[in-house]
Amino acid sequence: MSLRVSAINNISQGKDLKGPASAKITALFGENVFTLQKARAFLSDEAYKSLLSSIKGSKKIDRTVANQIAAGMRQWAETKGVTHYTHWFQPLTGTTAEKHDSFFTLKGDGTAIEEFDGAALIQQEPDASSFPSGGIRATFEARGYTAWDPSSPAFIMEIGNGKTLCIPTIFVSYTGETLDYKAPLLKSLESLNKSAVEVANYFDKNVSRVSATLGWEQEYFVIDEGMFNARPDLVLSGRTVFGHAPAKGQQLEDHYFGSIPERVYAFMRDFENESYKLGIPLRTRHNEVAPAQFECAPIFEEVSVAVDHNTLLMDVMNRVARRHGLRVLLHEKPFAGINGSGKHNNWSMSTDTGVNLLAPGKTPKTNLMFLTFFVNTIKAVHDYSDLLRASIASASNDYRLGANEAPPAIISVFIGQYLTKVLEEIKERVGDKFDEQDEAILKLDLHRSIPELLLDNTDRNRTSPFAFTGNKFEFRAVGSSANCANAMTTLNTIMADTLKKFKQDVDVLIEKGEKKEIAIMHVIREYIVASDKVLFEGDGYSEEWEKEAAKRGLPNLKTTPLALDAMVTDKAKHLFESNEVLSHVELEARHEIELEKYIKNVQIEARIMGELCTSHVLPAAVKYQNILINNIKGLKEIGLKESSYANQLQILEKISEHINILSDLVEKMIEARKVCNAMTDTRTKAIAYESQVKAPFFDAIRYRVDKLELLVDDANWPLPKYREMLFIR
Ligand code: ADP
Ligand code: MG
Repeated sequence: MSLRVSAINNISQGKDLKGPASAKITALFGENVFTLQKARAFLSDEAYKSLLSSIKGSKKIDRTVANQIAAGMRQWAETKGVTHYTHWFQPLTGTTAEKHDSFFTLKGDGTAIEEFDGAALIQQEPDASSFPSGGIRATFEARGYTAWDPSSPAFIMEIGNGKTLCIPTIFVSYTGETLDYKAPLLKSLESLNKSAVEVANYFDKNVSRVSATLGWEQEYFVIDEGMFNARPDLVLSGRTVFGHAPAKGQQLEDHYFGSIPERVYAFMRDFENESYKLGIPLRTRHNEVAPAQFECAPIFEEVSVAVDHNTLLMDVMNRVARRHGLRVLLHEKPFAGINGSGKHNNWSMSTDTGVNLLAPGKTPKTNLMFLTFFVNTIKAVHDYSDLLRASIASASNDYRLGANEAPPAIISVFIGQYLTKVLEEIKERVGDKFDEQDEAILKLDLHRSIPELLLDNTDRNRTSPFAFTGNKFEFRAVGSSANCANAMTTLNTIMADTLKKFKQDVDVLIEKGEKKEIAIMHVIREYIVASDKVLFEGDGYSEEWEKEAAKRGLPNLKTTPLALDAMVTDKAKHLFESNEVLSHVELEARHEIELEKYIKNVQIEARIMGELCTSHVLPAAVKYQNILINNIKGLKEIGLKESSYANQLQILEKISEHINILSDLVEKMIEARKVCNAMTDTRTKAIAYESQVKAPFFDAIRYRVDKLELLVDDANWPLPKYREMLFIR
């Protein structure tokens, strides 16, 4: 029996329709997190204060205090049955990494004890020489180490009955270059904090800290584990490289916000509970547009915590799914022709005085503050749209961006009719001298009007990659499998830089004797004029927009290798270096790593395609071809006229044609791969993999396989079909 058939037969096995017992969320929330409250209970006054000030970024923890904190953490962890600890980090592979050590150790005299000291808390050398480093560690020093990041709380990860204390860390090379997603993210937040506080102080002297906030929306598919295992392409590359569109797809739109299938519901409740224990504040869950596609979203948090929580969630989802005989697909486009998955990044900035800087104000003064941060964001996106594009570039997101249901590879900003009008007015009305008429703009009731207008569906543009949605921007082009850190680091940095320039521009006018508000209004107007071309209110999915964007000179880079070029321009190097987020060397290394990841992904897909053709598809097709041949032979033998088996002949001809062309294409693709593999320059190789392997062969091969799927006897087809994966639960 084929894996496909046994998967279909077994689909009802292991079904858990009940899920975990219902529990009050507040009773679970943060149960496995070393929160400040728990720190208070388990630490001495001295250790607690020291921890607190290092969380706020103001003080380094010294070794003796570190010992106390470590001991307190272990004590807490042991009350929960924890035996091991690990430094938990986010390497550039895109997943999370951990290396477990036990608290258990032997003293000199052989006595067994449990121990966790400050040194082990603060720093570790995970001997992680096979994590990608873009050549950094090879060039400088072979070792990399992880260092405790106190701003992110320690937590306990439960896997089966095992419990591990996870210490969030950053991952750095021995010479100090960062090798993970987290370290530059933290630096970009610090840089944004500095610039944003200075600008916010124009309006309110009491602001002393600005934090960026992130609320992600995670889209994903869920399919049966048996089906998953019967699809080697899903197992190895996360997407189905073949599969004919099902007779029924998403055209009935009966799945979107429909009732959640019971088995998936049990899974959701289970991973939600696990998430609550880890302090991930999940709030919403629902079906998405495509069959078998779902979404969850938390209450927004400070960016660094939100990033940790999203990577943790992806991990938890993957693990919990298997308890339910299910598999989560986080790939951006697991099924061709069916909507892909994104991870909208809702982003804003808030002050330590409790103000959301992207929320329209109630008074002229707060309106001016809102407009300042709002227009600076638009200017930042305008000036650095190429970097935002690069920040979301990956082999898997290439399948989604620009497909018919996802934001295009062109970065534009949607702000809604009402704000468009406000900006137009500022552009036209603000004169050389700021007068009462100009001031009237600030008296507009932005606070009431904008949210109302944006909530009205006619004014919510879902086709924009970067949209203002009332009190935050929503970066929608981020891929579902991505670590949000990349996009957030870029967004924070370009915003930090733009605000810095804004401050300089305003100060120049003030020094010339201009009134502060008037100076601000002038620079705002200048920025609106300068970033005009990035604003777009129309249908981002349409062809007209591609043409229009080309006319405006907006970049439209559809492939990752080219989109990544933006990372290593002089402009980018200057930006990241002057804002102290990433050095020259680090950028070059990251560029190299992203290219390598791209190459490997396309390579894996090409290989699995070839293998599936030769060992799955072609044998099934040839088998059926033989059945037809024998059938025709037999009909001929018993003396029937050719016209009576003309149909069989026709089918046979079609199948034979597909088989021939398919085997030929597979051979040629292997040849093309060999040519690429011999290339030494990473960028050239990545471009070649795209233009000489992926572009000419992937769709062409798929076309033949999908045709064969429709022709070959269903009983002999080896791979679970789209209708089976998407509709049977
Ligand atoms: P939708 O965009 O689907 O209409 P919401 O507007 O309710 O949904 O919010 C979507 C996401 O935006 C949620 O995850 C929410 O936490 C987040 N969000 C709301 N306000 C902010 C903010 N100030 N900063 C960052 N994220 C926010
Ligand atoms: Mg949304």
